[in-house]
Amino acid sequence: MTSTVAAIVARTPDGPLEAGTVERREVGPRDVRIDIVWAGICHSDIHTVRGDWGAQTYPLAVGHEIAGVVAEVGAEVDRFEVGQRVGVGCMVGSCRECANCRAGREQYCDKGFTDTYGARDADGTVTQGGYTSAIVVDEHFVLSLPDALPFEKVAPLLCAGITTYSPLRRWGAGPGTRVAVVGMGGLGHMAVKLAVAMGAEVTVLSQTSSKRADALAFGAVAHHATSDPAVFDELARSFDLIINTVSAPLDVDAYLGLLDFAGTMANVGAPPEPAAMSVFTLFTNQRSFSGSTIGGIAETQQMLEFCAEHGIVPEVEVIRADQVNDAWERVLKSDVRYRFVIDTATLKG
Ligand code: NAP
Ligand code: ZN
Ligand code: ZN
Repeated sequence: MTSTVAAIVARTPDGPLEAGTVERREVGPRDVRIDIVWAGICHSDIHTVRGDWGAQTYPLAVGHEIAGVVAEVGAEVDRFEVGQRVGVGCMVGSCRECANCRAGREQYCDKGFTDTYGARDADGTVTQGGYTSAIVVDEHFVLSLPDALPFEKVAPLLCAGITTYSPLRRWGAGPGTRVAVVGMGGLGHMAVKLAVAMGAEVTVLSQTSSKRADALAFGAVAHHATSDPAVFDELARSFDLIINTVSAPLDVDAYLGLLDFAGTMANVGAPPEPAAMSVFTLFTNQRSFSGSTIGGIAETQQMLEFCAEHGIVPEVEVIRADQVNDAWERVLKSDVRYRFVIDTATLKG
């Protein structure tokens, strides 16, 4: 039997989010039912509801940064037990058979992974995300939350954390590498903390100087406001890796010019518009332009352990369910320090 759970839902692309409900499937043999306690707000939630990346089916509950407690497990589940603290990120399914899935890269599943919200699930229903009081997920896509990580702060690691950890590892951030992080919002502030913990020398490139003190407190060695065009001359050929977390189109050539020999600009920001760049900027210094999306399940667990070991936690502002529309407005204005997390006990069902 399905169950009805409290939710915050979007009923249209442009309207406000409202209190509502969603249906959860019965717990299958390999499923875990999780009572959600904390739900992070990612900019992708806003892109999705607004239709930036394509049409959606409404009503839709978004949210893919989920921290909660196991409420029930299926008969064949052996990795989790009732009462355990667990997390769910951006994926709730994948084919599990293709080469990428078998290599632990479920996010690059040949058949496309199943997004935590807004995707067609195996049973034909549309997946509903974390702005809800409970979720039922195949155990393969459930993460164990290390005790060392504070429960109310851990949820943003499930998207913002892994999405920046994965390209930092892929491109070898560490001692002796110079990393620039463009845009210091939810993803960007995690990129700074993670790259610093990996031993890299980190610079933040922000629109204004308003986040300078925070960037330095997170361990960056420098912060520059890109509103001053002189920055692009001053920092030419200064970085080995640029992690671009910006949610809007950028002047890609200007940022590529900041890369030293064989440097890479790794994009995780996801504006819907195509990126334009000159191949000649890539030719110079043999630069690369690359993309990355979230991370595999094993890699996400590894990232959680890394954060526990290094004492890395997101900066969060806890909000009530009735503050979610204001929170979205603030995300759109780059006025979030640095992730909103919904206390789902305040949902009304
Ligand atoms: P966010 O909290 O809104 O942060 C984005 C930051 O970019 C802002 O805080 C701001 O930082 C900067 N920015 C915003 N508008 C800008 C503009 N017009 N020009 C220059 N800089 C601007 O968003 P988020 O949750 O971190 O997500 C960032 C992007 O990553 C979104 O597009 C999201 O959909 C995408 N994303 C991708 C993946 C993936 O798998 N690849 C996963 C999660 C999210 P400053 O104030 O420092 O300038
Ligand atoms: Zn996200
Ligand atoms: Zn697959």
